[in-house]
Amino acid sequence: MSELNLILLGPPGAGKGTQAERLVADFDLPYYATGDILRAAVKDGTELGRQAKEYMDRGDLVPDEVICGVIMERVDSDEARDGFLLDGFPRTVGQANVLERGLQALGRRLTAALLLDVPDDEVVRRLSGRRVCVKSGHLYHVEFDPPKHDDVCDQDGSRLIQRDDDKPETIRRRLDVYHEQTAPLIDYYEERGILRRFHGGRPPGEVHDHIRASLATLRLENEL
Ligand code: ADP
Ligand code: ADP
Repeated sequence: MSELNLILLGPPGAGKGTQAERLVADFDLPYYATGDILRAAVKDGTELGRQAKEYMDRGDLVPDEVICGVIMERVDSDEARDGFLLDGFPRTVGQANVLERGLQALGRRLTAALLLDVPDDEVVRRLSGRRVCVKSGHLYHVEFDPPKHDDVCDQDGSRLIQRDDDKPETIRRRLDVYHEQTAPLIDYYEERGILRRFHGGRPPGEVHDHIRASLATLRLENEL
């Protein structure tokens, strides 16, 4: 079977984590989310966490040299030999170049860049209402996808929290950073012919159906 090397692109709050949860179940791919990796490092007080924390608190990106090695190590691991799903990486053209060259050196390339298009006002609404399970990272929204009981995870009964960077001032900063540093990747992957666009503003199940259909077609084409 052909490799499925995927990245998820889109502004903060576009639904990347929400779709990733579903795609991982569909395609049995190892999932690497740089935000999750960095938050865990901050919590565990590792060297990586120490280097990343001040940037994350401000809503800025951590420097490329801090994050690139961490991701390339995972992409080159045994479990990712048949494919992977990256969420939140690459986020700059510099990171995209590191990924492209790193894959090239392994005789591999990206299969598709999945872009979730969502307007800024919707992003603000989503991030302000996002709640996350402290234990499993399972995602909720106070309005669009509320838990059965306030602030309690449906799946494992753990507490739901609001991320520190999901506060209004930091949300604005993260959106600016997205438009300045990450949005140029849309053209980058379009030029390489691997960009796939989806209306991220649609309900989660619908977005998921579209992505799955697009990947099924892509796989067929790659196998022909
Ligand atoms: P990202 O990983 O891109 O930052 P998330 O998957 O964490 O985005 O989603 C951000 C918030 O929006 C979460 O609270 C999630 O429950 C909610 N959400 C995700 N997808 C949708 C959607 N299609 N419609 C409405 N709300 C959504
Ligand atoms: P969201 O999907 O809600 O934008 P993430 O969880 O992906 O947020 O990222 C949270 C924070 O972690 C970012 O604001 C940034 O500080 C840092 N971060 C995550 N991925 C990267 C990356 N590839 N490069 C630089 N910083 C990153």
